[in-house]
Amino acid sequence: MKVLVVGGAGYIGSHCVRQLVAAGHEPVVVDNLVFGHRQAVAPEIPFYTDHLGNVDAMRKILAEEKIELVMHFAAFAYVGESVEKPLKYYDNNFIATLRLLEAMLTEGVKKFVFSSTCATYGVPPSLPIVETMPQAPINPYGQTKLDVENALKALAHSDGLSFAAFRYFNAAGAATDGSIGEDHNPETHLIPLVIDAAMGKRENIKIFGTDYDTPDGTCLRDYVHVDDLSRAHIAVFDKLGTPGTGCFYNLGTGTPYSVREVIEAVEKVSGKKVNIVEVERRAGDPPALYADSSKAKNGLGWKVEFDSVEKIVETAWAWHSSHPNGFSD
Ligand code: UDP
Repeated sequence: MKVLVVGGAGYIGSHCVRQLVAAGHEPVVVDNLVFGHRQAVAPEIPFYTDHLGNVDAMRKILAEEKIELVMHFAAFAYVGESVEKPLKYYDNNFIATLRLLEAMLTEGVKKFVFSSTCATYGVPPSLPIVETMPQAPINPYGQTKLDVENALKALAHSDGLSFAAFRYFNAAGAATDGSIGEDHNPETHLIPLVIDAAMGKRENIKIFGTDYDTPDGTCLRDYVHVDDLSRAHIAVFDKLGTPGTGCFYNLGTGTPYSVREVIEAVEKVSGKKVNIVEVERRAGDPPALYADSSKAKNGLGWKVEFDSVEKIVETAWAWHSSHPNGFSD
């Protein structure tokens, strides 16, 4: 299938592009390269440096490339920044996504796969999180993703859009051949920061809060490999045949790991000791988040290949230690 991957030069998008090729599909990438890396996409793949909110540009690409399905990964994703600069998040993550959908519907492209997030749940009433739980985001980032989810439901009803939205837990890891991986600037995520500390690029890793009501006092998260995430996006294609239908899936392994356990995994994989500094809690961090992904497993035949944080960290370590400065482009 001819698939437009919006944000295809970003972290999850670029891994998905490779999985699409491996599965025999034909990806076309759009990325404005604000956060994406040109090098993350193979040179033979059609690449457009446009903004997803540019309706004319998107219409032209959709028509000329004869696109059948759109996957959308392009979003700002810094929770703290979204609290400081909500307009930036509403503009890019919500308004620009509406423009992309407008371009699609005008061109008659009605299959859509969307990157949503567990941040749409806010602080869950119980664990693990199932898709039917109430969604009450506690920051503008999560809110913009939920707003798109709601717009998709409305467009399925009004325009016959068929869509799938995946609520990711903590995306992590890198391609197993070490050729692409995570390169955010600034980096805020735990695994790459601990790896930086193990590589001596940072003096230490700060643990944000050691007094949570969890087994070792640090937060629990559900780390899921970026290639496992990507595979679900392709497995869902079969569900997009009926116009006017939509589905939502959690994507996590279901096994929570504490911040201390992640640090231990990096130490074990790298063979290096990491200096730890215990600091105050980070505002807005729920104590524990982990997924019940039975719906994706039963409904899509989705399987988690990287079923321990150590396996995930092995791939991340291979990428970071061979590319200490990330992508050059
Ligand atoms: N964390 C930490 N130190 C850091 C970065 C993150 O202790 O330098 C913790 C953070 O408080 C959370 C977990 O690691 O409990 C995962 O954070 P990350 O930012 O990777 O993902 P999030 O869960 O916020 O999406």
